[in-house]
Amino acid sequence: MTFNASVLTLYPEMFPGPLGTSIAGRALREGAWALDTVQIRDFATDKHRSVDDTPAGGGAGMVLRADVLAAAVDSICGGVPMLAMSPRGKPLTQARVREIAAGPGVAVLCGRFEGFDERIFEGRAVEPVSIGDYILSGGEMGALVLLDACIRLLPGVMGAPSSGVEESFESGLLEYPHYTRPVTWEGRTIPEVLRSGDHARIAAWRKQMAETDTRLRRPDLWERHVGARVKPPSGARHPSEDEQL
Ligand code: SAH
Repeated sequence: MTFNASVLTLYPEMFPGPLGTSIAGRALREGAWALDTVQIRDFATDKHRSVDDTPAGGGAGMVLRADVLAAAVDSICGGVPMLAMSPRGKPLTQARVREIAAGPGVAVLCGRFEGFDERIFEGRAVEPVSIGDYILSGGEMGALVLLDACIRLLPGVMGAPSSGVEESFESGLLEYPHYTRPVTWEGRTIPEVLRSGDHARIAAWRKQMAETDTRLRRPDLWERHVGARVKPPSGARHPSEDEQL
């Protein structure tokens, strides 16, 4: 089954871009996914083919018009989630990427300038998604990020099926650190346990490293991980709920 990606953009020439190389490029040529770009400007209605206008209430920059965006969105066949790249959206997670990759495809609306007229989110089923707490000049790079994350999960795309499972975030933790030859580099040696051949010890060391690194580098993930572990069984009351009574 082919995963159908549609990208609505003012810069279709940015696609497939980096997704035409390496793993994603091979998967594209082999038909694991298909790409369709839609030029938002094709849906402009005035003689200047304008897609944007000045912000209501004043201020810098330009805003993408809801009527033009809606016409572009309506040109996409339904049946796939429609995402809009926006720093105001819900942060993209590996769990959401997995859901999208398990479906028939995705459509991604790319913003430019100051972003979208907010009414597009009310008038159409468009889900705003952020790729992180920083500002890009346009949604195209975000679309590339989202598509890359989905494509590598498609059946048959990655060499070893197991290599998707142990990655950072899949278990709610960062992945453990990796090493390869040479055994000694600039006086630094690969941890002895990894050379021991003792699979149980290696697994225990990796678990310990994943936990320590997550706790130190990503306290936000660690809190959630620990919280999930101590969650009472469903139906049981959490002690703090009783205290509040
Ligand atoms: N004025 C907006 C930023 C606009 S940046 C604000 O402050 O919220 C222009 C476009 O780049 C956005 O419409 C969006 O499509 C894209 N973009 C910028 N940062 C992004 C991010 N962190 N995640 C996803 N898309 C982003």
